[in-house]
Amino acid sequence: MTKSSVLGYPRIGANREWKKALEAFWSGKLEESEFLKQLQEIRIAHLCKQQEQGIDYIPVGDFSYYDQVLDTATMFGIVPKRFPYDGGPVPLSLYYGVARGTKDATASEMTKWFNTNYHYIVPELDGASPVVTENKPLIAYREAKEALGIEGKPVIIGPLTFLKLSKGYKASELDAWIDRLVPLYVQILQELEQEGVAWVQIDEPILVTKVDEKDIERLKSIYGTIAANVPNLNIMMQTYFESVDYYQEIVALPVKGIGLDFVHGLAGNLESIKTNGFPSDKVLGAGVIDGRGIWKASLRGKLDLIGELTAIVPADRLIVQTSCSLLHVPVTVQNESKLLPELKEALAFADEKLGEIALLKKAVASGESAVAEELARNSRELQAIEQSGARNRGEIQAAVAAVSKQEPLRSLPFAERHAAQERKWQLPIFPTTTIGSFPQSAEVRKARQSWRKGEWNNEQYNAFIREQIDLWIGLQEEIGLDVLVHGEFERTDMVEFFGEKLAGFAFTEFGWVQSYGSRCVKPPIIFGDVAFEQAMTVEETRYAQSKTARPVKGMLTGPITIMNWSFVRDDITREQIAYQLAYALRQEVEALEQAGIGMIQVDEPAVREGLPLKEKDQAEYLAWSVKAFRMTTCTVQDTTQIHTHMCYCEFHDMIDSIEAMDADVISIETSRSHGELIHSFEENTYKLGIGLGVYDIHSPRVPSVGEMTNMIDRALRVLDPKLFWINPDCGLKTRGSEETIASLRNMVDATRIAREKHTVQV
Ligand code: GLN
Ligand code: ZN
Repeated sequence: MTKSSVLGYPRIGANREWKKALEAFWSGKLEESEFLKQLQEIRIAHLCKQQEQGIDYIPVGDFSYYDQVLDTATMFGIVPKRFPYDGGPVPLSLYYGVARGTKDATASEMTKWFNTNYHYIVPELDGASPVVTENKPLIAYREAKEALGIEGKPVIIGPLTFLKLSKGYKASELDAWIDRLVPLYVQILQELEQEGVAWVQIDEPILVTKVDEKDIERLKSIYGTIAANVPNLNIMMQTYFESVDYYQEIVALPVKGIGLDFVHGLAGNLESIKTNGFPSDKVLGAGVIDGRGIWKASLRGKLDLIGELTAIVPADRLIVQTSCSLLHVPVTVQNESKLLPELKEALAFADEKLGEIALLKKAVASGESAVAEELARNSRELQAIEQSGARNRGEIQAAVAAVSKQEPLRSLPFAERHAAQERKWQLPIFPTTTIGSFPQSAEVRKARQSWRKGEWNNEQYNAFIREQIDLWIGLQEEIGLDVLVHGEFERTDMVEFFGEKLAGFAFTEFGWVQSYGSRCVKPPIIFGDVAFEQAMTVEETRYAQSKTARPVKGMLTGPITIMNWSFVRDDITREQIAYQLAYALRQEVEALEQAGIGMIQVDEPAVREGLPLKEKDQAEYLAWSVKAFRMTTCTVQDTTQIHTHMCYCEFHDMIDSIEAMDADVISIETSRSHGELIHSFEENTYKLGIGLGVYDIHSPRVPSVGEMTNMIDRALRVLDPKLFWINPDCGLKTRGSEETIASLRNMVDATRIAREKHTVQV
């Protein structure tokens, strides 16, 4: 009979209980024993929910005290060299030390988990001598069994994925590392086998990225060794987030089950299975329910899909499951009280997805008539959102369609615009500026809270914001910056701020997802046609400009960043959503220009992270992303200077696309990859205005003039001085005022030195 399975469940809790417990523990408000008890309660409650829904294979061991990759590393005693560690189970203090840093040692790097917004701790293998310090999946399995009588399915990150995501070793050492780690995996799995565990899920999402034949050989050897040593354990080798390229080799691995994503890798995986069939000795983990999207599934559509699959794999060898772990969606829709009814009924977060899985299983097992009522209701709900007025704004759709047919070009090419802008703005060589935000002090946050709670009226709040603007315009002039900003004091978040003012967005009350560690984000939902309603930033910007003779940059978040940091509707393409956003933001750009703002920055820090996992899809994504940016910015006058800002990741392989955005000036983060980025400018000349961040804003340390001078000198070796700007790496909202002022003073000093050197040279 068909079974049901879940690949992982969110750990944060419906009210972020997990986050609160972690933070209370870190701050010393919660003792370790009490903390452990609270976390266990959360964990068991989560298992309970899955048990109640009748899920057959409930994941255990997916719960974490911080991050599942860190769990795997510490289970093998892999701790960065700079931390004191003598072997044995890694104590909590050390575990959190690695994750968050201590006074003596810096934290491990964190990076994005594939193309999600979840960040994992990058294991550092350098100097490690791995051993099994404790069998975490076994502990989790026993706990679930004792507490609830659940025969859990331990979840483990597979050796190939784990090693490929780790650092601190050379590519040529990968095979040696596999040889060291696989015996440890065998040990863990043998203990599970002895315990009587039926199924283990081994995650190998690396297989949906670019792997080569050598990796496939590695995979065969890894799973061959495991099969030889652990013959009686059923292993589900699980992939997700995309389709697999080496389908035939992968389904031939000596494991009992193969898990494939039939949502995000639908086209590729379905084609592979139809063309090549599926081995008759294996079980197919069919990921049909979207583990990372927030919309209810079309049950009708899913049953049709399952029908296609069961034509190849009989139902008794098919597991209906989520496409990936539910870690990437919020916990439940149930507690939401402010959403439009048609929207609320169209959403499925983790708990609702459990219900969908259970229902599909029932339909496959007992026939559709057994779920006729649910099917009918589902189609009514989906129809209601489809027909929602918010999704059917003909005038917006027509306007966006018309605009996106035009080539989004500025009226003059850069070189000519640039000359006109130089004449107009009369800036010194190496103009200085900042990225937009100034410190969001406790006072600023408190003011916003008072206003949100209604304790302050609009007037009081606006007066407060204006005071902050006055203060910082004064400071920027005094420090000697050339292009000023208003400081973004009215914004908590660069996406939410715009989402709240544009049509087509909704905000949940509890729709949190884990981003990294205890940090959770609550992405807006783009559920309808996006439309400009009223000017969003004009008032503050115009006010700031009225206080100074120097130019003030208007400050907007770009279409791709807004889209990538939101949950989006899935009835139209991301490309279409991007154009709707672009068209709406273009109206804001025009409104700013009309209000006399002649420099406008459109931030796009999140372009890179939306890059599809498959290389073949990347060019298309970049092309429409660039187009959306240009749609946003192309209608301004020649003398209006368009800025953009990018950060958070490596850009060296997408310089061409960045250039194609055709922004007059880009400010770009370089602190994390300075060498590489500079290097890429040696190879490709960048022809537009550019400011490479000269100091890292992620640290409270005040950088010296000398350090920044070095950065400037290095950059000027590869960039045209006439196009070079000087600015920090990113916005300053997380910094304190004092260090910000001191750092900017040093930056202006370093600029002075650079200008002097430059005049001597020319
Ligand atoms: N303008 C934004 C700020 O300064 C940019 C933030 C970002 O790049 N993430 O805060
Ligand atoms: Zn930034």
